[in-house]
Amino acid sequence: MKVTRRQFLKVTGATAASFALVDLGFDLQATASAAKELRIKNVTPTPTVCPYCASGCGLVIYAERDANGNFVKLLSVHGDPDNPINQGGACSKGAAMFNLREIYDERTGEQMINPKRVQKPLYRAPGSDKWEEKDWDWMLDRIAEKIKETRDSNFIHKEKLEDGSEIIVNRTERIASIGGSGLDNEECYILSKMMRALGVRPMSFSKYCTGVAQLYEQVKANRFKPQQRYLTTLAKVRKPSQG
Ligand code: SF4
Repeated sequence: MKVTRRQFLKVTGATAASFALVDLGFDLQATASAAKELRIKNVTPTPTVCPYCASGCGLVIYAERDANGNFVKLLSVHGDPDNPINQGGACSKGAAMFNLREIYDERTGEQMINPKRVQKPLYRAPGSDKWEEKDWDWMLDRIAEKIKETRDSNFIHKEKLEDGSEIIVNRTERIASIGGSGLDNEECYILSKMMRALGVRPMSFSKYCTGVAQLYEQVKANRFKPQQRYLTTLAKVRKPSQG
């Protein structure tokens, strides 16, 4: 019989705990059935991918659900033992993913939704120091307008070669794309196709901080020419250790 890593961990963990309790003189009969009823009732494990870095470790989210399958509360997040990348491990950042959504109240110890969690799109107007809540339609329209405006006003159709001849390049040098570590291969493929169709060359699919450093390299290589105010922001965000 083939035993998976997850089954092995479950069986060995449960067996060790049982022996220890029997040695102490506990009758496990009633305890075991009560624990089964209370602890795993309506709990669903959902495999997912850690959003923090490009390693893409697999995590399992355990959530309690009601009788209709509706989400009730988050119970735990840990490394997925069946994932070939991390094999059950998770660094401290990934292991703390639980707190992206829920935290424990410092005074009462009650589990609650993390009040710092951003649940709506936030927009900061140029020059403003305030964030405004916007709905998704407004935000997506705004992004589309800005992309079109920037592309139309900075589009290069042809480029001259050293011998004086011209070739069609169809590109813009004012737009760059930063992906995210939560993107899988297929999403990266679609994103890169969309950017290429728009004529965008500088692209990064890793986490934000690495992406900024990579874009800065594109600026130095003269392949990405953002407006000065964006260049200043890029230079500020880029870590000195990243070149
Ligand atoms: S942040 Fe940690 S757990 Fe998450 S993908 Fe990176 S190494 Fe894995």
